[in-house]
Amino acid sequence: MALVGGAVLFYTSSLPGQSGTKPASAQEAPKTYGETWNPTIRVNLTPVPIDEVPFGVDGPYRVIVPGSSRVLAYGDGIAKTIASIDGASIRIGESLFPISELELVPVRSPSVWVGRHQYRGTVRLLRKTGDKLIAVNHVPLEEYIASVIDSEVPSTFGEAARQAQAIVARTYAVSQMTGHPQFDVFATSRSQKYLGYQYLNVDDRRLAGESNSSRNIAAETAGVVCTYNGKAFTTYYSAVCGGRTINGSTVFTDAVPALKSVECNWCREADRYRWTSTVPVGEASSLIRDHLKTSGKTFGTVRSIRLAKGPDGDLPYYEISDENATHRIAGTVLRRVLPYGVLNSPDFEASQDATTIRIAGRGHGHGVGFCQWGADGQAKAGRSALEIIRFYYPDAGTVRLRPPKP
Ligand SMILES: [Zn+2]
Repeated sequence: MALVGGAVLFYTSSLPGQSGTKPASAQEAPKTYGETWNPTIRVNLTPVPIDEVPFGVDGPYRVIVPGSSRVLAYGDGIAKTIASIDGASIRIGESLFPISELELVPVRSPSVWVGRHQYRGTVRLLRKTGDKLIAVNHVPLEEYIASVIDSEVPSTFGEAARQAQAIVARTYAVSQMTGHPQFDVFATSRSQKYLGYQYLNVDDRRLAGESNSSRNIAAETAGVVCTYNGKAFTTYYSAVCGGRTINGSTVFTDAVPALKSVECNWCREADRYRWTSTVPVGEASSLIRDHLKTSGKTFGTVRSIRLAKGPDGDLPYYEISDENATHRIAGTVLRRVLPYGVLNSPDFEASQDATTIRIAGRGHGHGVGFCQWGADGQAKAGRSALEIIRFYYPDAGTVRLRPPKP
């Protein structure tokens, strides 16, 4: 049974170290990733193409033509500098490379800095239209997962929740490896958060983007992914579902039936299980007016925002009235229309007076699939990673990916 890139699926019924009787030991963990399918994932580090990429390398390196062994340059390191387009070339500091794509291959990994983050693996700089660049990190999947675990959930989360996060994140990553010519995923919550090996915070302090704990969890779960109908699916997940996850098919066009709504009161401890916010009536009216204008509608001033309750578990829609009419808008759309931070999730109730709209909401994020804070609640109640995954993705299986036999 082939999945992606000819990898072979092996069904797995348990994970080392998650039976609750004894912790994972070095013996139980895979000896090497070589026993597991561990392809290179390509992570776009630049959310949009940019003019100048802050760039540096701690230690010896080669610059090569991507996909070849042709060496364009080598050196002992690159102090923090800027990569940019210069005429027909890519410039890194004072060095010009008359080429539209190049790959920086360090001798030791991690070495390469892009912006305020240092990454394992290699980094490609790719020219885009308008004399702009993107930077794409090529890194072994399991090294990427080790960082995603710590980037997405705190070290205080239960071990089983972090194992489940690893499996869910790996599945998401594999589902995105569909042959895009330049990259598979973004390094932000647009895909999933990936801080890299280490990074500088706003005070220029170096912080770890991975840990012994996250590396161990990546190794314990190496190659394990969730499947539906024998395929890795897009395992959407969010921080806090707020009491019930949302049917994936009402939010995402590529949602498989395993992304079905389930009741989850395991995330009650999360700060944003319930939350409140406010937005001035004038500001909300203006933003909703701009949004409706794009579909040729006019809008005055918000008089009411009412939850149009659909069947339980579907994406909430709202009836928004002005002086003249009522418009139906999805909660996901309102999150984008209103100022950032006003709506932590698409599930809320609103009330208003003459000047202010008051929001009382449930959850944080889109609410589909795996609930991170709920997973922590379940882990602390003694559930295993696979039990947590089956709770949030009913009908999904799990398999361990291994390379095809030569
Ligand atoms: Zn939840």
